[in-house]
Amino acid sequence: MLDGQPTFSIIAPCHNEELVLHELHKRMREVMDTTGEPWELVLVNDGSKDKTAEIIAALNAIDPRVKGLSFSRNYGFQVAVTAGLDYASGKAVALIDADLQDPPEVILDMIKKWREGFDVVYGVRGERDGETWFKKSSAAMFYRLIRAITNVNIPVDTGDFRLMDRRVVDALKKMPERHRFIRGMVSWVGYKQTGVTYKRAPRFAGSTNFTLVKMMRLAWDAITSFSYFPLQAATYLGFIIAGLSAVMIVVVAALRLFGNSNFFFGQATTLVMVLFLGAIQLICLGVIGEYLGRIYDEVKGRPLYLVAQKWGLD
Ligand code: UDP
Ligand code: MG
Repeated sequence: MLDGQPTFSIIAPCHNEELVLHELHKRMREVMDTTGEPWELVLVNDGSKDKTAEIIAALNAIDPRVKGLSFSRNYGFQVAVTAGLDYASGKAVALIDADLQDPPEVILDMIKKWREGFDVVYGVRGERDGETWFKKSSAAMFYRLIRAITNVNIPVDTGDFRLMDRRVVDALKKMPERHRFIRGMVSWVGYKQTGVTYKRAPRFAGSTNFTLVKMMRLAWDAITSFSYFPLQAATYLGFIIAGLSAVMIVVVAALRLFGNSNFFFGQATTLVMVLFLGAIQLICLGVIGEYLGRIYDEVKGRPLYLVAQKWGLD
């Protein structure tokens, strides 16, 4: 069975996860063996500084169903998942965090839905244990902001933990964009999608790799990849300010003719107005710059990642 196509591929991106990989393998074995079908676990070592690579090699030696690759450096979570999708060969492919925050047991529920004919089964985070109030509320805001601003239907409270049919994976492989927001890309693909609710566990060991800055960068990637809203906002703002100015002209003229013109106009007002408009123009320029930078990145057409080493993968 080893050489044939596995029914299930599980992809776990790993950045400094030496403390959890053995446990991940154990839990995954317990869960996936109950399916009675061939499966593989694809571990993507995203430029770890610890012993993650050695552990992947060791796991592959004792259980060839564990496969893996190491990047030449850290490319980030979204790219690590992409590499996993490129190498996974299962008929259904699951994405999971290596730190066991997404319980592997939930994959069985996802498989059930997949067998019922769904192409994408995503995990909806019901409760979350062991995460700070700040992380939970910023994540909740993140999901809702993305949903409000972008034009694809991205379900809220949903991470990257999901199971996808081969045809969805093949579609994703045809999307070579550089600034990747996998959740949005999967929603964009369409087909039959559904969710299963689960309880997100605390990290098994180690510490989070995601800082607030990384979260904000991801949010910005999501917005710019799936919407022109920031560009359109400049136009709206322009119309609003033009409308306000028109009203102001009338007010100023009226005050000049019938009232006290020194009432609220002076040097300071002019200065504040000029600075305010200058700032808005700079912000709009920056927004255009963001999109321009992304176009530049696409045009360069560099590979998304470089592989340094592989275990059990062609
Ligand atoms: N990860 C990665 N590359 C990175 C950062 C994170 O591959 O640059 C992996 C990490 O090993 C884990 C998953 O992405 O499997 C989620 O990261 P983490 O648990 O640190 O984030 P959190 O769950 O706190 O949002
Ligand atoms: Mg985690």
